[in-house]
Amino acid sequence: PQARLGHMPEAERPEHVRKVIAVASGKGGVGKSTVAVNLAAAFAAQGLRVGLLDADIYGPSAPTMLGVDGEPTFDDEKRLVPLEAWGLKVMSIGFIVEPGDAAIWRGPMASSALRTMMGSAWGTADQPLDVLVIDLPPGTGDIQLTLVQRLKLDGVVVVSTPQEIALIDARRAATMFAKTGAPILGVIENMAWFEDPTGARVPIFGEGGAAAEAERLGVPLLAQVPIEMALRQACDAGQPLVATRPDSAASRAFLQAAERL
Ligand code: ADP
Repeated sequence: PQARLGHMPEAERPEHVRKVIAVASGKGGVGKSTVAVNLAAAFAAQGLRVGLLDADIYGPSAPTMLGVDGEPTFDDEKRLVPLEAWGLKVMSIGFIVEPGDAAIWRGPMASSALRTMMGSAWGTADQPLDVLVIDLPPGTGDIQLTLVQRLKLDGVVVVSTPQEIALIDARRAATMFAKTGAPILGVIENMAWFEDPTGARVPIFGEGGAAAEAERLGVPLLAQVPIEMALRQACDAGQPLVATRPDSAASRAFLQAAERL
């Protein structure tokens, strides 16, 4: 990959967007999209103007998790106009293609779709977006590399469960981003524990690993998000938990992560 990166075209960044943060994971199912959605909602709760770009070609989640769907329109400058939900500007690969179609794309096609979505009308000169959160496809394959090497990211947040396999994959993701020059801002440990009815924390997927991994990478462990039924329900109901139940333990973890970024 190093050789290819040497011929990297100029990285791109969207207009009128102050900060671009990508949320990545080494593998699927660790809660990357859950984190991306709730992190975006947490930034919005701080009073920031926030966009969410759901670039997960293997399974776009924003339409389900935010309860928003529709066909985006184009503005006078032929830019896609993001949809709005929960105070966020939202663009998802799921708005643009039929379910399943994007999953079989090759790198250049996924890349070009992402560039088009990046070029959406996120903000104006008067009202720039403060932060754009990108929900990347999971993994560290060629497609992911092609995607991220063209983007000018301000930083990457890596999501992992405490489980060893997820941590190893997260390490691969960190290595990939190091090659693109995008700084890793920190690790968010998801499914860190489950609080049983007595209040005891049960480390279902193990413990301590994410903190050790963050230390190894020399980045902060931004938050530990517990397993919460309310979080799963909120995702299914199309509601960011941070917006509907900001006092829950998981929401407090997301708000803490946003605070530290
Ligand atoms: P990924 O984007 O990594 O594939 P998702 O964010 O789509 O993972 O999460 C997979 C499923 O797990 C979702 O249905 C979500 O609601 C649920 N989930 C994720 N994190 C938690 C958590 N901490 N507690 C409860 N459910 C969770």
